[in-house]
Amino acid sequence: MQSFWSFIEPLVLIAPKVVLAAGAIVFPLLFVIPAPYGRHTRKGWGPSLSAKVAWGVMESPSVFLFAAVWLANPHFGEPMVVALGALWLLHYGQRTFVFTSLMPKEGKPMPFVTVGMALVFNVLNASGNAGSLASRPVDVPFVLGTLLFLFAMGLNVHSDHVLRTLRAPGETGYKVPARGAFRWVSAPNYLGEILEWVGFAIAAQSLAAWAFAAFTFANLAPRARANHRWYQQQFADYPKARRALLPFLW
Ligand code: NDP
Repeated sequence: MQSFWSFIEPLVLIAPKVVLAAGAIVFPLLFVIPAPYGRHTRKGWGPSLSAKVAWGVMESPSVFLFAAVWLANPHFGEPMVVALGALWLLHYGQRTFVFTSLMPKEGKPMPFVTVGMALVFNVLNASGNAGSLASRPVDVPFVLGTLLFLFAMGLNVHSDHVLRTLRAPGETGYKVPARGAFRWVSAPNYLGEILEWVGFAIAAQSLAAWAFAAFTFANLAPRARANHRWYQQQFADYPKARRALLPFLW
């Protein structure tokens, strides 16, 4: 474990800075060029693989590498380090195994280039976060951050469930979602995801956790706007009062 830690420690130290830099680059870029998967799939991005396999492959470092670095972290065993690692694995266990297995087989293929970028990102982000976990006496930020994380995970998982149940088996087209938080925004799954990582950062108080929260916003806010505009263009009767990401505001 100690030699693995010596091997991984340089990556743990550099990862949050790379994640912050990546967020600063993708934020303006994604307003102009939406990531080419799902409804924004288009030609010219090279060969693709099945969405089910793609999600399983690209998210797996966030479970397996995270767990390895978490166990090697010299602070492993301290209560807050155990609790925060468990929260992380709750999210990524759900995403990697449950979300992926519930995904319909007909899902749109994802370009290798998208999968490759997400894989590299997840290697960095999982190492940085697992290796940066440290303990302190239980305090208000830990409790509030944990509660926000759990509430937001509920919002994210429920919203993904609403989307998944819009289609009958075998259907591939798009419909207007109307249940749950879709009454207020076009992308409550992304709002849940962003709030989850803000909650995690408040609880963990590490640069790695704040860098991931910032990156998640930089990645998903432009996509929420792109999805919102896409709905408005596709459906003439799309609810006028619905916003992209922030209820009543944006
Ligand atoms: P989407 O909302 O684009 O799609 C989710 C699934 O629902 C897809 O299978 C999609 O089908 C289907 N779907 C979406 N809208 C409709 C509709 N109107 N009618 C019928 N089916 C629909 O989500 P993403 O794939 O972008 O994200 C999935 C999860 O991953 C989310 O929880 C998100 O928060 C998370 N994520 C996190 C990121 C991060 O930076 N931390 C980055 C990206 C995603 P189809 O594939 O055919 O479009």
